[in-house]
Amino acid sequence: MAVRTGFEPATPCVTGTYSNQLNYHTGSFGDTKVTPFFDSAIIFLRNHRLFSIFVLYLLSMTAEKQEQFDRSYLEMAAVWGKNSYCKRRQVGAIIVKDRMIISDGYNGTPAGFENVCEDEEGLTKPYVLHAEANAITKVAKSNNSSEGATLYITTSPCMECAKLIIQAGITRVVYSNQYRITDGIELLRRAGVEIIHIDINTQHTDLSIKRTYE
Ligand SMILES: [Zn+2]
Repeated sequence: MAVRTGFEPATPCVTGTYSNQLNYHTGSFGDTKVTPFFDSAIIFLRNHRLFSIFVLYLLSMTAEKQEQFDRSYLEMAAVWGKNSYCKRRQVGAIIVKDRMIISDGYNGTPAGFENVCEDEEGLTKPYVLHAEANAITKVAKSNNSSEGATLYITTSPCMECAKLIIQAGITRVVYSNQYRITDGIELLRRAGVEIIHIDINTQHTDLSIKRTYE
């Protein structure tokens, strides 16, 4: 008498006919060919539904925790942006890698120039560096690498900064305020950079409602 393992299908599948059963002879699931790993995973999940629910719960908890971190770092970027002496707009940036802040920046003139961003007519001087450009170039002066890091920025990046972000190897950008021109965000998206929009100006504490994935 054959020993049953508990994993056998109730009825054997017939090759060539549609079935949502795992075919143990051909290694296919329904009409789809599956790998041995996927094969084992399906068997495991079908026999451990409570475990599957637990895994989903853990994943949702992890996502919620990440959301809290994102919001906190964005708020820190906003505080840092207040150091900017620019009058028209104060922007702050923080670069985080492996849960460590490896750089920061705010918009302002290059080192050695006067701390005035606007000319007599109130227009921003052309050599003012944006916050993310300052943060990225600060990494270049350090022993750190921005490869695979997350950039937190209070205002969505412009086209010029988006180029720097891509070249710096930053793979994730989290921002709060939407700049009126969105070509920078579009370029980042084309480069496969993950974009997350969280409005930190809202007082609402329900993070799941306030977060918006672009
Ligand atoms: Zn910029």
